Amino acid sequence: MKPIPYGHQHIGEADIAEVVKVLRSDWITQGPAIKRFEDAVAHYCGARHAVAVANGTAGLHLAALALGANPGDLLWTSPITFTASANCARYCGADVDFVDIDPETSNLSLDVLERKLVRAKAAGRLPKILVPVHYGGQPCDMIRVGELARRYGFHVIEDAAHAIGSSFRGVRTGACRDSDMTVFSFHPVKVMTTGEGGMILTNRDVLYERLLMLRTHGITRDPAKMAEKSQGPWYYEQIELGFNYRMTDIQAALGWSQLQRLDEFVARRHALAKRYDQLLSDLPLRPLRQHPDAYSSLHLYVVRLDRQRTNRTHQVVFSQLLGNGIEVNLHYIPVYRHPYYRSLGYEPREFPEAENHYAEAITLPLYFDLGEREQERVVESLRQALA
Ligand SMILES: *Cc1c(COP(=O)(O)O)cnc(C)c1O
Repeated sequence: MKPIPYGHQHIGEADIAEVVKVLRSDWITQGPAIKRFEDAVAHYCGARHAVAVANGTAGLHLAALALGANPGDLLWTSPITFTASANCARYCGADVDFVDIDPETSNLSLDVLERKLVRAKAAGRLPKILVPVHYGGQPCDMIRVGELARRYGFHVIEDAAHAIGSSFRGVRTGACRDSDMTVFSFHPVKVMTTGEGGMILTNRDVLYERLLMLRTHGITRDPAKMAEKSQGPWYYEQIELGFNYRMTDIQAALGWSQLQRLDEFVARRHALAKRYDQLLSDLPLRPLRQHPDAYSSLHLYVVRLDRQRTNRTHQVVFSQLLGNGIEVNLHYIPVYRHPYYRSLGYEPREFPEAENHYAEAITLPLYFDLGEREQERVVESLRQALA
């Protein structure tokens, strides 16, 4: 039987037609398809500006740079995330610390955050930037994050790699009402895709200008921004150290086309997740709690082993499912456990809830084309593994 992956893109004929149109046009990079995609995502989310970039990681890097992350600065994020959420600080020479998670949603805990801020203020070492991660597509309570940001004076970059199409109290993720910037990823396993790709949203004009410049080598062609007088029609200046983090028009065309179906993608994920909830309800597992004010994009369907009701270990369950061709996954190895971060001196016992998550979490297959029979195969395998 064909293996069932944990995630998979859905590419339709309309997507292919949009990409072909670009291939037949004069522009395959930095042409009109980029702006059309950026405008469409900004409009969808209700943000002023959007900047398409090569991938989500590049988006996080540019966002941290645009906020002036420097050696000596501190960035806080969740330990239960892909390492890119923390790496963006390290690229800028800034330090990283982690805020333990909420055991029910596996999002960064705002109670732990608040207590940690009180201690950090007393110690004179507040973070410059907080990166809340909308784990699995469920938005954090950004209203409360925004209040804390104003009270303690830190910046906020939402790592919304999982969360395009989600909302909190009816406000779409990416609207940036309570953050400086929001970053999406369009990697193929995410909710919608451009192959590789990412986007940064912001309402702040100054940040928008900086992001555009940093995306293209730190180069400007705007005489108002130049240090010298123009030396001729060829003239441009590199005024800071930027990167080539551009997206191609080919990717942007795919992204624009996928965006037209985003709500349908998310609705399908909800239907499948609801079915998992029902089919799994008698097993010693618990799904993540969904906050009543949050509408998740459900990038991931994660269950946690209820270790009080089963003595099956993670190891055993994973081996058995993988042996049956069910490609379950574990999101995530806590970032501080990776040797690179371990060498910077974090202590797993400072993050007991992240450790519990790591001992219990299983990501089940969830993607647009997952059939009901395949879903039943997943559930049957789990049932056997836990029997
Ligand atoms: C996928 C992901 C990223 C990075 O996105 P890429 O487009 O793969 O660079 C960052 N943060 C989280 C939480 C992710 O899941």
